[in-house]
Formats: sequence, structure tokens, C-alpha cells
Amino acid sequence: MQAIRVNEFGGPEVMSFETVDSPTIGDKDVLVKVEAAGINYIDTYQRSGLYQIPLPATLGLEAAGTVAEVGGAVSGFAAGDRVAYTNVAGAYAEFAAVPQDKLVALPDGVSFDAGAAAMLQGCTAHYLCQSTYPVKAGDRCLIHAAAGGVGLLLIQMVKNAGGFVIGTCSTEEKAELARQAGADEVILYGQQDFETEVKRITDGAGVNVAYDSVGKSTFEKSIDCLSRFGYMVLYGNASGPVTEFNPATLGPKGSLFLTRPTLFDYLATREDLEWRSGDIFKWIAEGKLKLRLEHFYPLSDAVAAHQALEGRQTTGKVILRP
Ligand code: NDP
Repeated sequence: MQAIRVNEFGGPEVMSFETVDSPTIGDKDVLVKVEAAGINYIDTYQRSGLYQIPLPATLGLEAAGTVAEVGGAVSGFAAGDRVAYTNVAGAYAEFAAVPQDKLVALPDGVSFDAGAAAMLQGCTAHYLCQSTYPVKAGDRCLIHAAAGGVGLLLIQMVKNAGGFVIGTCSTEEKAELARQAGADEVILYGQQDFETEVKRITDGAGVNVAYDSVGKSTFEKSIDCLSRFGYMVLYGNASGPVTEFNPATLGPKGSLFLTRPTLFDYLATREDLEWRSGDIFKWIAEGKLKLRLEHFYPLSDAVAAHQALEGRQTTGKVILRP
């Protein structure tokens, strides 16, 4: 089969389109024919070596497709079923071997592209606003990279929970997308000082939670945007990792909370997976969650797809099609 392989860490160009053996499945695994593989920012960290993975590797942590074959001890899935999954390595390929407990059925009416868009970024947005900091009606929430894959989903989920959203992004086009998703206010953080703007918008009160996936370039100011007992949720490093921090500063700034959550912990059990993906598919069917599916690349063009994502050229979901 064809797959995107990484043999050494580096820029997008280290990804190579190769012919490799199809994966073999164990008793409790399902062989999925990948129809749509989701690209996520974490793939760039794994490719660059910011997050170290054993090499050589096939990239990609999420896909939707059809069941090609099931292991001897698999129950509940059969050849031909439409399925989706996340948190299993090797999605940038024609086939992936997936443990059955990581797989969910794709409901009728949810396309393969939507399935691939819903799982990793959808479950991330879900855990951020349902579990890490459960948003209540009236909460003021700062969402960075608001027009990105996670950002557009998080805005909608926070609005559905009754929160007030202040989004940030780099361009007016992205700001319009964030507003369409429901953001109450949008700040162009490359042009305006977002801390000053947040204080102005909130009459000096600050926000109850800052969802920060940008990291290095926004971290300190995000903390300064928080109200008393506010939550700093640092969940990504799009501008680079935060490497130095003195926890003593959280006290005088309002007895703040700081967390660095990961999807792996919030999707660790079958119950978590069924709850979060079930909510997401239900909200899609009810029209409460809209996916932005705009960027499609053939599997062989993974290099261009990563360049676009890291070059801040994309909004919403980026999909690879084998
Ligand atoms: P996005 O579609 O949000 O793309 C990243 C965005 O970050 C860009 O579009 C850009 O938006 C913004 N950005 C700000 N500074 C930079 C920079 N210096 N270089 C590049 N981009 C920058 O990606 P995803 O939705 O896939 O992921 C969003 C973030 O969430 C990532 O940081 C990812 O690691 C994190 N994440 C964390 C998870 C977790 O469990 N901890 C799980 C899933 C994702 P703009 O141009 O508007 O600034």
C-alpha cells in the first residue's frame, strides 16, 4: 500500500510517499480502508521531533473509512462498516490497523470527511470545554487560533454551553469565520494587543478561562487576561513550546489555575470515547455543530498540506485522501 513515512525528524520535506506492506491485524484489531485521514497540528510536532516518536513511522492519528477485515476476537464490527477513530498512529496510509476499542461507527449522514474532522479536533474541543474547564452560562472565554481546526469547533461548543467567546486570529478573513462560528468578539492578535483588548471588552474583569494552543507567543499575556480563580488551559505549541514558568506568579495574579491537558488522557477509556464522539455526532445531526471542510489533499501531497497548515494558510479541517 501507499503511505506517508517519516524516516528522520525535520521540516515537511522529510515526509516521503512510499510503498510499504499493509498492516497486519491482531485478534482484537480491525483493518480499516482509509477514505479520509485527518491532518492535525500534532502531526507536525511528531514530524519535526518536537514530540519524539520511534522512527521510521507512518504519520497520522485519525481517519474515517470502511472496515476491510476484522480480527478473530472482534465483535460489533464487520467488513463494509463505516467507521472512524483517533489516537492510533498510521493514518496517512491506504490501510490502518486499529484496535476495536478505539473505533466508533460512523452514523449515516456523516461523511468520511466529516468523520475524520470530528474525531481528534472535535474530541479535543469537547474535553476542553466539558471537562478541563466545564463552561457555564455567562463564562467569559478566550480562544486563541479561533479559526483553526480546534478553534472553530471550540467556539461553537462554548456558545452552545452559554459562554461568551473572545477569539483571536491573524487575518480579517479568519476573523469573519470565527464570527460566523459564534464568536462574540474577535481580536487580530498580530495587529492589536490582545490583553488590552480583552480587558476593554470585559470592562477590566478578564476571562474565566483562556484556551491557549499557540503557546510561546501568547502564554504570558493569556495568563494576564484571567479573572480571579481563572483557568489557564495551555493545550498546544503552534508558535513554539513554553519552556519556563514560575508557578509562584499564579498567586498574586488571582489564585489562578494552570493545566497542560492532552487528548490521550481525556480519551483514555471507552466510556470517554463513546461520550465525546457520541455528543459530536449528535450535535452534527442536530445542526448544533458545523464542520468546516475546505482543504483536501491527495495522500501524495502531504508535504504541501503540512506547509499550508504550518504557514497559517488553512482554516478548519485539513484532510488527506488516499
Ligand atoms: P489549527 O488549524 O488551529 O492551526 C494552527 C493555528 O495556530 C494556525 O492556523 C494559526 O492561526 C495559529 N498560529 C499562531 N501562531 C502560529 C505560528 N507561529 N505558526 C503557525 N501557526 C500559528 O491546528 P489544529 O486545530 O490542528 O490544532 C490547534 C492547536 O491545538 C495546536 O497547537 C495543537 O497542537 C493543539 N491540540 C492540542 C491537543 C491536546 O489535547 N493538547 C489536541 C489537539 C490539538 P492564526 O493564523 O489565526 O494565528
